[in-house]
Amino acid sequence: MLKQFWQKLFGNSSATEKQREVVVVPRSEHNISRQDISVNALKVLNRLRKSDYDAYLVGGGVRDILLGFHPKDFDIATNATPEQIKRLFRNCRIIGRRFKLAHILFGHEIIEVATFRASHNEASPHGEQSESGMLVRDNVYGSIEDDAWRRDFTVNALYYSINDFSVIDFTGGLEDLRKGQLRLIGDPITRYREDPVRMLRAIRLAAKLGLKIEEKTAEPIFDQGQLLTNVSAARLWDESHKLLLAGKSHDTFLELKRYELFKQLFPATQSALDDDPKQRFIRFVEASLQSTDKRIAEEKPVTPAFLFSVFLWAPLKVRVNELTEQGMSKNDAYHKAMTQVLTEQSQFISIPRRFSIVIREIWSLQPRLENRSHRAYKLLEHPRFRAAYDFLVLRAVGNEQLQSTASWWTRYQEAPPEGQRKMTQALTKSNKRGGKRRYNRKRKPNKNPTAQ
Ligand code: ATP
Ligand code: MG
Repeated sequence: MLKQFWQKLFGNSSATEKQREVVVVPRSEHNISRQDISVNALKVLNRLRKSDYDAYLVGGGVRDILLGFHPKDFDIATNATPEQIKRLFRNCRIIGRRFKLAHILFGHEIIEVATFRASHNEASPHGEQSESGMLVRDNVYGSIEDDAWRRDFTVNALYYSINDFSVIDFTGGLEDLRKGQLRLIGDPITRYREDPVRMLRAIRLAAKLGLKIEEKTAEPIFDQGQLLTNVSAARLWDESHKLLLAGKSHDTFLELKRYELFKQLFPATQSALDDDPKQRFIRFVEASLQSTDKRIAEEKPVTPAFLFSVFLWAPLKVRVNELTEQGMSKNDAYHKAMTQVLTEQSQFISIPRRFSIVIREIWSLQPRLENRSHRAYKLLEHPRFRAAYDFLVLRAVGNEQLQSTASWWTRYQEAPPEGQRKMTQALTKSNKRGGKRRYNRKRKPNKNPTAQ
C-alpha cells in the first residue's frame, strides 16, 4: 500500500533540486498516525498550536514512521523562539551554544524543540564559519522552508503538521525515501565542510535504515575524512556512542572502514588492524561488534566502554611489549600502557572518566582471569567481572589458546560452591604437576630426545 502511495505521488519523475515544487501529502495519503507519535511530543505540538505558533514533527521521527520503524526520539520544529517556548512549558530547559534548542522534559523522555533556522549561505551574515568552512554558530531564525534547506539529508527534512496532519516536503525527501536513498541537501563538499559530522551521520543512518548513500553524497567522503580532525573530541564521543550503540555497529564499522573514516576516529586501532597477520584482532573486533548488536536486539544493557576496550586492546598490547622491552616490569608496563593508550585515544574522541575507569577495569581483570588462581571466587564478586568475562570469551574467538580458559570460567560460574572448590584445587594440582615436570626434565634430561 505504501508503494502505491509513493507511485501515485511521484510516478517515475525526478525533479531537480531547489526548482522542485513543495509537495504536500494530505493525511489520507500517508501512513503517519498520531498513535505512532509519543504522547509527550503530541502534547508539545498541541500546546504550541493552541498558542498560535506553527509546530511540526520533523527529522528522524517523521522519517522513521514513514519507513515503518519506531522512532527513538521526536524532534519538533516551530516558529516560536526558545524564549517563547520556555514561557509555554515549565519543564523546559534551553540548551546549546552552537544551536540554541529547547528541551522539554517529561521524566526520562526529552522532546527537542528547535526554532526554524535559515541556511547561513543564503540568509545570513550571522552564521559564523571557521577557516575550514565549518559552521561555528548558526542561530539565524528563518521560515519553515529555510529550515528545511539547512537540514542535512532530504529524508530528514520532512515536516508533519499538527494543524492538518499533512506531510510537507521541500527538498525531495519523499522521493528519496521511495528510492531508498540518503542524499545530502545542497552541495555535498560544502555541507561536509560546514559540519564534518554529517559524514558520520550518513554512514550511521544508512546502516540504521537500510538506505543507500546516493553517489554524489557518498563520493566526497573518501577525500574529506580528514575534516573530522576539526570536530571537537567531546562531540565525537557523542557521535561514536551513536555509531556503536544503535544496534548496527558491525555494519557501521565495516562502512566506516570502507570510507576510510574509521582511521580518523580510532587511528591506533586502525594501525593494529593493518598489522594483524593472523587476523586475530579483526576477528575479536568483529565478534565484539556482532555481540553488541545482539545484546541491543535483546534489549540487554550495553556500555560504550566495552567496545572502546575492545578497539584499544591490540594497541595496548603493542604498548606493553614496547615498555617491557625497555626493561619495565610486566605489571608496571601494563598500567603505564593503559594510561598512554587512553590518553592518546582521547585526543580524537574524549572518553569521559567514568568510562575510562571501566575500560581500565576490564583490561586489568584480563591477566587475573587468565591466571585462574585459587582466589577465583573473589573475581566473581568484582563489579566488572561480567564485562571482563565477556571480553575474555570474545578474545578467545580470535585466539584458540584462550578458548580453554574462557570455557573454564563459563563452567566455573555455573558450578555449585563445592564444584568451584574442586575446579580450583584441580587447577592448583595441575599447576604443581606441571611445575614438577618441568623441574624434573631440567634435572634429568631425556636420554633419547627423538623418542617422543
Ligand atoms: P536519530 O534521532 O534517529 O538518530 P535524527 O535524524 O532524528 O536521527 P537527530 O540528531 O535527532 O537525528 O537530529 C534531528 C534532525 O536535526 C535531523 O533529522 C536533521 O534534520 C537535523 N540535523 C541533525 N544533525 C544535523 C547536522 N549535523 N546538520 C544539519 N542538520 C542536522
Ligand atoms: Mg532524532
